Amino acid sequence: MKTRAFFLSLFVVLLALTCVSNPFTGKSTMAFVQNSELFPSSFRQYRDFLGENQVITGTADAVMVERLGGRIKEAAEKWLANEGHPEYLDGYEWEYHLVLNDEVNAWCMPGGKIVVYTGILPVTRSENALAVVMGHEVAHALLNHGQQRMSASVLQELGATGLSLITADNSPETQALAMTAYGAGSQVFGTLPFSRSHESEADHYGLILMAIAGYDPEEAVPFWERMNALGGAAGPEFLSTHPSNETRIRDLGAWMAEAREKAAAIGAPR
Ligand SMILES: [Zn+2]
Repeated sequence: MKTRAFFLSLFVVLLALTCVSNPFTGKSTMAFVQNSELFPSSFRQYRDFLGENQVITGTADAVMVERLGGRIKEAAEKWLANEGHPEYLDGYEWEYHLVLNDEVNAWCMPGGKIVVYTGILPVTRSENALAVVMGHEVAHALLNHGQQRMSASVLQELGATGLSLITADNSPETQALAMTAYGAGSQVFGTLPFSRSHESEADHYGLILMAIAGYDPEEAVPFWERMNALGGAAGPEFLSTHPSNETRIRDLGAWMAEAREKAAAIGAPR
């Protein structure tokens, strides 16, 4: 019992030490792992993923993914500079790749490592709608949702004492867990969805991000309607806990004016 109490108090101390304030939301969120610890493992997993999958280069779609990624990156940098927190993106090494995969999916790992699957392109149909997706995915990353999700699942799987395993352990299980936490895979632990509130936040901040990047936020509504019509055919990140279509469309409508305002204030004229 004593040991348990010790670990419990250690855990509480850890929790107190690692709650960080997010410059976008002003909310205090759990961060068990600092970016400086998390990014190297994220970058390694991204590199491994690219090595094991077919990366498309040189096509019009691949060029679009690159261009779009660059614009979203600039938008994030402008937004954070505007909020007075340019340091929030320290250590980011943005990268964007189109990967051959039929799954309707896209994801962004910590530090700006983005993958778009070819399977989502028939649903997005345009660069503008792909900007909805990329804005949403990058928002998950900027808001540290994956980290919170990973923290929760690591707690569940390994207990508080296993937290250091996230960065120290390179076992296939731990790596798969980390990939799953960012929407990239579901082989080992099953689908691990973001919570509905995280999905809503990613919609909200993703919409602002795409607008600052010079894309039309209105496209979000028809895009999510197409996505919704797919039902269970979408990849892990777009399954399950997404807000109901009606709620999502209503929320997006409410955030539209804010997205346009931010874009007018800090976006680049296009
Ligand atoms: Zn999402």
